[in-house]
Amino acid sequence: MRWSERQREMLQAMGVRLFQPPTALAPPPPEMATPNVLVRSRPSTAPAEASNLPPAGIASLRPEIASLDWPSLRAAVAACQACALGQSREQTVFGVGHPRAHWMIVGEAPGEQEDRQGEPFVGPAGQLLDNMLRALGLTRDEAPPERQVFITNTLKCRPPRNRNPDPAETAQCAPFLERQIALVQPRLILAMGRFAAQALLASDEPLGRLRGRVHRYRGVPVVVTYHPAYLLRTLADKARAWEDLCLAATVVEGG
Ligand code: URA
Repeated sequence: MRWSERQREMLQAMGVRLFQPPTALAPPPPEMATPNVLVRSRPSTAPAEASNLPPAGIASLRPEIASLDWPSLRAAVAACQACALGQSREQTVFGVGHPRAHWMIVGEAPGEQEDRQGEPFVGPAGQLLDNMLRALGLTRDEAPPERQVFITNTLKCRPPRNRNPDPAETAQCAPFLERQIALVQPRLILAMGRFAAQALLASDEPLGRLRGRVHRYRGVPVVVTYHPAYLLRTLADKARAWEDLCLAATVVEGG
């Protein structure tokens, strides 16, 4: 599939109509078909101020996690009872994808379907995410590491009734994410939604202020974008999400 076709498919999947793009932040026309001409913002490799700190308390909370290999890490997540979500969950949702993926996607927390199936992003938001990935030539299915992403969440357990993660839960779960990132060593982390972005970047800035630039998490570039569930509800921001993906692609290609 040619890039321009993928781009069309993604824009359609995201609800952006090619014949009538939003004016202020119009997605690029298909003929501008390489990510590095599509980006609005130049990626900066300089760490963003106050956004490159590790999540507070990681090392002190659960230092033993930092040395686990994949099987032990998976087992530790499955057995975790560090917060109350361990009691209410159906099962933990560890993450899926290539263990050395170039792209790592980090969402918020499992929802009802993810809790039931044990895989991240399997509901409607996940379908949109899959479309977005496909448009970039990426997949969650088996493929080489430059094509197969690794997808996980900030929290490995579903908060009851899909409520927002609470800071103590995020802090308890952060060492798992940190270890996953250390093992994958991605070229880029795509943080989807406010909770993922704020947890990774130890920031309380709103998502709108975190977008459009390249942050760092322990040296790994981080690009922030909207959560797919939000994009399903908010047509106006889908073109902006496309810009974020283009920025991310530029970073990966330059890395
Ligand atoms: N939303 C998320 O952030 N993660 C999932 O796995 C599903 C929905």
